[in-house]
Amino acid sequence: MTASQRPQSRADWQALADTLIPRLETRAFIDDAFVEAVSGETLATLNPATGETLAHIASCDAADAERAVAAARAAHARGDWARLAPAKRKRVLLRLAELMEAHKDELALLDTLDMGKPVSSSLGDMVGAIGSIRHQAESIDKVYGEVAPTGDDSLGLVLREPLGVVASIVPWNFPLMMTAWKIAPALAAGNCVILKPSEKSPLSALRLAQLAKEAGLPRGVFQVLPGYGHTVGKALALSMQVDCLAFTGSTQVGKQLMQYAGQSNLKRVYLECGGKSPNLVFADCKDLDRVAQHAAAAIFHNQGEVCIAGSRLLVENAIREAFVDKVVEAAQAMQPGDPLDPASFMGAMVDETQYRRVLDYIAKGTEEGATLRTGGQALDGAGYFIPPTVFDGVTPAMTIGREEIFGPVLSVFGFDSEEEAVAMANDSDYGLAAGLWSQDIDRIMRVSRKLHSGQVFVNNWAGGDQTVPFGGVKQSGNGRDKSHHSLAEYTELKTVWMSLEG
Ligand code: NAD
Repeated sequence: MTASQRPQSRADWQALADTLIPRLETRAFIDDAFVEAVSGETLATLNPATGETLAHIASCDAADAERAVAAARAAHARGDWARLAPAKRKRVLLRLAELMEAHKDELALLDTLDMGKPVSSSLGDMVGAIGSIRHQAESIDKVYGEVAPTGDDSLGLVLREPLGVVASIVPWNFPLMMTAWKIAPALAAGNCVILKPSEKSPLSALRLAQLAKEAGLPRGVFQVLPGYGHTVGKALALSMQVDCLAFTGSTQVGKQLMQYAGQSNLKRVYLECGGKSPNLVFADCKDLDRVAQHAAAAIFHNQGEVCIAGSRLLVENAIREAFVDKVVEAAQAMQPGDPLDPASFMGAMVDETQYRRVLDYIAKGTEEGATLRTGGQALDGAGYFIPPTVFDGVTPAMTIGREEIFGPVLSVFGFDSEEEAVAMANDSDYGLAAGLWSQDIDRIMRVSRKLHSGQVFVNNWAGGDQTVPFGGVKQSGNGRDKSHHSLAEYTELKTVWMSLEG
């Protein structure tokens, strides 16, 4: 497709949607074939911008999980992926990346239709998704084992081997990008992967299965089981034949998965969970207009449905009044719009449940005494649209100051000293991301080190690329996506000790 043939306008995206929707793949992908769920059950997936049903998708349960696990174990035992030379695995994965690139408009549109995010934002996700597959594919034939520093009478080899069968359970907020962050290192390392997409956003995962088959991933190496968490997700998590759970989602479900691992086979559990990330703005910032713009985008991007949303804005009291005015102005310019309109910055909330949950939090903010500066009311008309909402005067005791809302709601706190800011930032069950805006290099170094967080953004929010790890501490989880650190997580270390005497 040439650049001029690519969708440019809302009408182009609608036309592409009209051709895609009637031919959506709705079946599970098990053992190299697209199949209905054993039970014959389906679940409806809706477009949250219109409320319309897009498709009825196979709703897998324990019986389907059992079939997929058996196929993955057989594939692992055959070894036609696990024991394939890394350079050959690389070629297959690069072919998959090429196919994703060729179909990126379609993949982006599926995510937009399924979960309501603006199509321009979904296109950005495709860069991250495809980049992740490429990065891990390119890395895998550069990973060496070790020869241990032993005496001459022995040889100690330290080998890296695939874990076996990995179940990846992912959320709906960045459907294909979160999927790629999980499956890229797991597949590159030689594992067989069973993907369980969110029941709220299964469409791009099923399209990815078609592309993986076309790219030449061997039978049983990559499978997709759409369905609910409490049915098929739980069955995978409790399976005695699954070696690793790679999860992105809520802290509550992450805790359940650890229990399932304990109740079954002590499988590894990598968790990327929720957040309530603090964004610290000090009075010495050079350009407060720019910082305000970033502070607003840090929470309102993706309708606030972002694990690393900068949902707690901590502002030095000396500039707070003027700075919050700027943030409110920036927020008011980020109104939600039609997700198919390339100019929209925010779209619809993923579904009615999430929409009501966010509105309940907004009501609680007012009840508990925070000052509503903008937003607060859902938009009239079809679809689940909530405008950017800013509360000032939030305290750590308030519900909206502590809990993850996962919507377009910003809580602003004031502080008077660096110590107070750090203490307030760290006073959270979560530790996924933190931001800090200052021109004072000593302060930047001091505060970055003191923030208890998996990542710290200095004079930016959400920066990073495939070369740096992404993940949290505390109840934000224990895993790391992206970079060679994630690749290492999907390998087992094996020691081979050889005696060289006589
Ligand atoms: P969720 O925990 O409700 O669901 C995530 C996945 O787990 C879904 O596929 C769901 O079907 C499955 N699941 C639910 N119950 C299960 C069970 N009992 N057994 C097995 N699987 C089960 O989360 P969500 O609403 O889809 O996503 C929002 C959450 O994800 C937020 O808390 C957000 O912060 C988090 N998130 C974290 C990151 C990160 O990298 N740390 C990234 C994106 C989203």
